[in-house]
Amino acid sequence: MVEQTNHPIGGRDYPRTVQEFDEWFATEEKCAAYLAQLRWPDGFVCPGCGGKKQWLTARQQMRCAGCQRQTSVTAGTIFEGTRKPLRVWFQAVWYVMSQKFGGNAMGLQRVLGLGSYQTAWSWLHKIRRAMVRPGRDHLSGRVEVDETYVGGEEEGVAGRYTQKKAIVVVAIEVHEPRGFGRIRLRHVRDVSGDSLLGFIHDVVAPGSAILTDGWKSYDGLHGTAYPHEKIVLSASGDPAHVALPGVHRVAALLKRWLLGTHQGAVSNKHLDYYLDEYTFRFNRRNSKSRGLLFYRLLQQAVQTQPAPYLQLVGRAATA
Ligand SMILES: [Zn+2]
Repeated sequence: MVEQTNHPIGGRDYPRTVQEFDEWFATEEKCAAYLAQLRWPDGFVCPGCGGKKQWLTARQQMRCAGCQRQTSVTAGTIFEGTRKPLRVWFQAVWYVMSQKFGGNAMGLQRVLGLGSYQTAWSWLHKIRRAMVRPGRDHLSGRVEVDETYVGGEEEGVAGRYTQKKAIVVVAIEVHEPRGFGRIRLRHVRDVSGDSLLGFIHDVVAPGSAILTDGWKSYDGLHGTAYPHEKIVLSASGDPAHVALPGVHRVAALLKRWLLGTHQGAVSNKHLDYYLDEYTFRFNRRNSKSRGLLFYRLLQQAVQTQPAPYLQLVGRAATA
């Protein structure tokens, strides 16, 4: 049913409509076969010995003909150990991908009739973990970088130092003559050179021009592989002019999304997951097909390590 290509086709590689979705994924066997195709596009490979011959056991496990190791299509993925049918998981992914602004836990619980809010919450976090593609590309070209502050309804906080608000550093590709490309976001502890330059180093390809404001931490770019363009507006400049329009726009949209879809109820501890989801959505904002997003997410889900619940609730801020 599924072929691994760089250009997946609707109706062949992924369902285009809810009707197709229901037909394709009517049974657990069909769901498992779909996942197996995404996980092993060139055929089964034993995670133990690399062997390619296997047979199915009565419990839908695959037994390697070489080393006898048993594995399942969900082992080592975000679905590992689940007691819920794959079909319900697929519905959850479809739901999240078909909402323009994503879903929240209460919405998912209602749509799927899940027993507990906790289950819906942890499913959404597992799905978010699959939104970061392993080994994803670096941003390149001209890249705006700046920090923004989200959460913590603090009125009138001025300056860059804050206790309650979370600091998010934003990078966005600037296209010439106009328009923007992909983004990367990271929740950082502070606005030191270590935090900001570390982020740039991790997400932007060397040789790319970095556009920033006059914050001194960015002076550390001098002498690195990144040409630095400092944009400082004079005090008498046009107030309508925005120095870094791409970052400015992403920051505004991100805050609106956190307040709207998630009612501002995102704790700093879990912020990274939400930033991953926002990044996934923003970078695919021109995709017309929700089915394609569903396909991409499942494709990444079978390459993502499982996250036990305790690990999900305990994730700390990274800097
Ligand atoms: Zn084996």
